[in-house]
Amino acid sequence: MPEIQNAGSAAPMPLLFLISDTGGGHRNAARAVGQALDRIYPGRFAPVLCDPLSGPGSARLLRWVTALYGPAIRLAPWLWGAAYHACNSRPAVGLLRRTLLRLADRPAADAARAQRPAAIVSFHPLTGMAAVAARDRSAPGTPVVTVVTDLARTHAAWRYADVDLIIAPHAAVPDPGRPRRPAEQGWATAGLPVTREFWGGPLLPRERAILRRSLGLSENEFLVLLTGGGEGSGGMARRTSAILRWFADVDVVAVCGRNARLKRRLDRRAARSGGRLTVTGFTRNMADLLRCCDLVVTKAGPGTIAEAACCGAPMLLTSHVPGQETGNTELVARAAAGRGLPGVQDLVAEIGRLRENQGAVEAMRTASARMSRPGAAADIAELIAGLVLPGPTSAASPARPARPSRRQVRAESAGGTTLSAHSPPGATVRQAEAAEPTGAAAGPAGATGGPAGAAGGPAGPC
Ligand code: UDP
Repeated sequence: MPEIQNAGSAAPMPLLFLISDTGGGHRNAARAVGQALDRIYPGRFAPVLCDPLSGPGSARLLRWVTALYGPAIRLAPWLWGAAYHACNSRPAVGLLRRTLLRLADRPAADAARAQRPAAIVSFHPLTGMAAVAARDRSAPGTPVVTVVTDLARTHAAWRYADVDLIIAPHAAVPDPGRPRRPAEQGWATAGLPVTREFWGGPLLPRERAILRRSLGLSENEFLVLLTGGGEGSGGMARRTSAILRWFADVDVVAVCGRNARLKRRLDRRAARSGGRLTVTGFTRNMADLLRCCDLVVTKAGPGTIAEAACCGAPMLLTSHVPGQETGNTELVARAAAGRGLPGVQDLVAEIGRLRENQGAVEAMRTASARMSRPGAAADIAELIAGLVLPGPTSAASPARPARPSRRQVRAESAGGTTLSAHSPPGATVRQAEAAEPTGAAAGPAGATGGPAGAAGGPAGPC
């Protein structure tokens, strides 16, 4: 039975969110759930972020290993894939747990001791076991939840931590129709959580044009957004060059994430592109870019797919990180929201075809929006609140707080600041958001809303 803390008091309940910055998706998922809790239960919860793998207080060896993730998926994805599969079994996860991952226990337990959280929530496959250790060492009885941030499949590391509840996208639940033995209960399905900038849904064509103008982008040219997740992976440089070379009337925005080398290279290319190429590093403005583009060209990252769907962006998926992103392209293709195009020639040919066929682009937009789950963060927030709040769970309660209206989402997005990619672990979501620098290309007030009703979104795979 979960321990109920602060019930009836005005003080917000601390929640410990464990993440790590391998890619950009884990931190954003945690931010999304924090924002949804704040929206649905204002002032009730105080989520605190902790990165026990590479944040302050983490073991040097773990920091070193974690720092290898970006270079590994960029330069030797096959090596990453081999490591992923080698560890994808219960015995292998057990071995990892008894060796390298033990080093994550202490920072997580220290954070739990300092925060006295009402629940511990893990958003990373390699922090689930540290969450359990934190409970056992520092916060006995505290519920532990895993929020799976993969889309089509779950690695064994997500599954074999002794947590109270695993929340996963439908497609990632192993064998979802199978009746479970009591010991296997504790799975719930919800979409991938996206941050509040994505809750408002896609824009109308007229709104897209206004948004592009406000971002300094051409309103008239066909606009392709290239992105490769937080690490800027997936061969973006050669694809950007091919698109610019092939078409005189296609503009490109390339989001390089934390890949500084790629950014330098594309900056040089932008200097001789006649204004057709815009390059950013790690941007805080993915929502506006996804909303105003004609197509997004990306690796099959779950976070980007979920966000693109919320913005109604057609997706051309060029690669996937072997292992955790396998199967994502097929999900998108089955929903008719995009296509897998690993070859550069095929990609260029498809862009040429779509540029001439507005109807096909619109059909993909509609399909993309149909697979969106903008309310996923709210669903997850309610599941977590249901574990720690007294009385009937909020999800089942008739007094369930209202979802944000389009107007509310617009107002928050326009003035909204977001949690820094490098905000200090241990910062509460509010503190970290207050410390956030403004986005590289802040969108216009009111531009990030969408058609009424989009926030409720029909069920879909992500
Ligand atoms: N992202 C971002 N700014 C960037 C690049 C990426 O905020 O410059 C975010 C993006 O919006 C998404 C996440 O990073 O939330 C990428 O997640 P995904 O699962 O696609 O890939 P990962 O980086 O985790 O491999």
